[in-house]
Amino acid sequence: MSKEKIPYKIYLSENELPASWYNVRADMKNKPAPLLNPGTHKPMTFEELRPVFCDELIKQELDDTTPYIEIPAEIREFYKMYRPAPLVRAYCLEKKLGTPAKIYYKFEGNNTSGSHKLNSAIAQAYYAKKQGLKGVTTETGAGQWGTALSMACSYFGLDCQVYMVKVSYEQKPFRREVIRTYGAKITPSPSETTEVGRKILAEFPGTGGSLGCAISEAVEAATHQEGYRYVLGSVLNQVLLHQTVIGLETMTAMDKYGIKPDVIIGCAGGGSNLGGLISPFMGRKLRGEADYQFIAVEPASCPSLTRGKFVYDFCDTGHVCPLAKMYTLGSEFIPSPNHAGGLRYHGMSSILSQLYDDGLMEARTVEQTEVFRAAQEFARVEGILPAPESSHAIKVAIDEALKCKENGEEKTILFGLTGTGYFDMYAYKAFNDGTMSDYIPTDEDLAKGFAGIPRFPGNEF
Ligand SMILES: *Cc1c(COP(=O)(O)O)cnc(C)c1O
Repeated sequence: MSKEKIPYKIYLSENELPASWYNVRADMKNKPAPLLNPGTHKPMTFEELRPVFCDELIKQELDDTTPYIEIPAEIREFYKMYRPAPLVRAYCLEKKLGTPAKIYYKFEGNNTSGSHKLNSAIAQAYYAKKQGLKGVTTETGAGQWGTALSMACSYFGLDCQVYMVKVSYEQKPFRREVIRTYGAKITPSPSETTEVGRKILAEFPGTGGSLGCAISEAVEAATHQEGYRYVLGSVLNQVLLHQTVIGLETMTAMDKYGIKPDVIIGCAGGGSNLGGLISPFMGRKLRGEADYQFIAVEPASCPSLTRGKFVYDFCDTGHVCPLAKMYTLGSEFIPSPNHAGGLRYHGMSSILSQLYDDGLMEARTVEQTEVFRAAQEFARVEGILPAPESSHAIKVAIDEALKCKENGEEKTILFGLTGTGYFDMYAYKAFNDGTMSDYIPTDEDLAKGFAGIPRFPGNEF
C-alpha cells in the first residue's frame, strides 16, 4: 500500500474502530505517582474515592497494570456517530510552507462539542448511568467540556450540572446556550450555591473565577446530593485512557499506509488529548519496538511542564480534591487576563508528568500571538478554523516543517488538531484587530503560585 499516493483524508471504516482503550501505565517502568489523601498523605483507596467518582472509573483510575481495557458496546455505538475521525495529510500546508516534510493531523473537531472531549464524556456518562446514578456534576472553563458532557448525559438520560468559570460564562453566551440546549443546568462559578463558592466570593468579591475554583464547587455539589458523582474532562488517568481512541485510530491508519511518524506533537492543557494521541506510540517506544520524538506544547503564559515543579499539589482552589503528583504552577496560579488561548490549568496529567520527567517526551512553550498567526495560516490553506488550543500544536508543527526545509529533511510530522474555534471569536477578533498581546510570567509571578504548594515530608522542593 505504501506505493500508492496517500489520500488527503484517511478514513477508517466503522469496524476498524478500536475495541479497547490502551493503558500506557502498563508499559511504564516508572508508574505515575498515586493520588494522595490530603489529610493523611497516604494513597487514596477505592473506598475513599467512592463518594466522588463512579466505581468503574475509579478502577480505571487506579489500574496501572492492565494494558487493554475493552470499550463497552454502547460507547462504541456512540463513537460511530462521529468516529473514526479522519487523519488528514496537510498537502496544502506543506505546499504553502515549501517543506519536504510530510505533515499529518488527526482531526477531532467533527462533532457538535467541537473537540476531542466527547471521547471521554460519553465514557464517563455511560459508567454513571450503568451504576444507576441520577446525574453528574462538573466544571467547565472555555466550555468545550461542559458541552461534551451535556451531549453525553442527554444521550443516556442523566442529569448534568455544570459550573462554568464566570468570565467564560459571560464572554461565551453561545457556548452556554449549546450546553442548555442539551439540557444541562449551568451555574457561573464561583456561586452562592456551594459552601466553597460562598467562601471564595467572600474573600474575593467580584472575581471572574478559575478552573480550580469551579472544580471545588462541582465536587461539593456531587458529594452533597444523593445519586450524584463528579466527573472531570482532563488530567485524570481515566480521561487519558478514554482519549487513547485518538492515538489507536491514528496508529491503525498510519500502519495501513506504511507511514511512520518521526515527530508527534500535541497541545497540553491538562494533557488528555496529548496523552490520548501519543499513548499507543509511547507504548511502542517503552517496549523498545520503535522510536518517536514527542513534543508537548503549552502556552508561555501557563508553562506547567517547562517551568513548574514536579511535586504533589492540590488539583483545585478549594483543596477538596486528592493531591496529585504532577508538574504544577501551584493551585492558586491564574494565567494573566490577556491570555485567550485556553490550556490554563495549573497542573498536568500525572502520566505525562512522569513521562516528561523520565525524558521520554519534550515540552515547548509558544506565545499567543504567534499561535494565532499559525492558526490563521492553517485556516487559510487547510480550510478548518482551528481552536486556539489546537493552534499551539499547529505552531510547533509549522516550526518543525520549516526546520526540515532548512535542513532538507523529509521527516513525517503528526499533530493533534483537537477542535474548531467557532466559539473563540473574541480571541480571533483581538488577533485580527492587532490588540492581542503576550505575557510571559516572571519568576516572581510564578513564586506566588509555588508558595501555595503544600509542603510535607517527601514533598520538599
Ligand atoms: C480542552 C481542550 C484542549 C486541552 O485539554 P487537554 O486535556 O490538554 O487535551 C485542547 N484542545 C481543545 C479543542 C480543547 O477543547
